[in-house]
Amino acid sequence: MQILLVEDDHALAKALLQALQQQSHTVNAVSTGAAALHIIQTETPDIVILDLGLPDIDGIDVLKKTRKKHTDLPILVLTARSELDDRIIGLDSGADDYLAKPFEITELFARLRVLERRISNVKSTDIRINNVILDSNNNSVTLDDKELELSRKEYM
Ligand code: CA
Repeated sequence: MQILLVEDDHALAKALLQALQQQSHTVNAVSTGAAALHIIQTETPDIVILDLGLPDIDGIDVLKKTRKKHTDLPILVLTARSELDDRIIGLDSGADDYLAKPFEITELFARLRVLERRISNVKSTDIRINNVILDSNNNSVTLDDKELELSRKEYM
């Protein structure tokens, strides 16, 4: 997956970057809200991991701005603000999940897997055009409910 990591704590960002790359993710790491908003606009990552305490724009504002334009983009909020009120504000502002620092890297991975499953569920929707259905999950095409035998090239 293409992950955008927004974290201004360089030591933590570096550790997370390495751990995520070991899980075969492509990671773009930035340390400011402005850089995060720019990348979300230009590259649209699959998932955003967002720290709330950023040096320029408050993470909550980054969250709200992003949510206005990208309603389906999964956002996992990462923060030292573990108070209940902050969690509620984060979730109300459009975060899909919330992880309070300090956390175990395995818990972060588990939560990313949940978001990843949600993305693949969204992406697996059949494409229907009249009596033709294309299932991008099994790479199959049916015509009038009968599966067509297609070579890979024909399917493409
Ligand atoms: Ca921070």
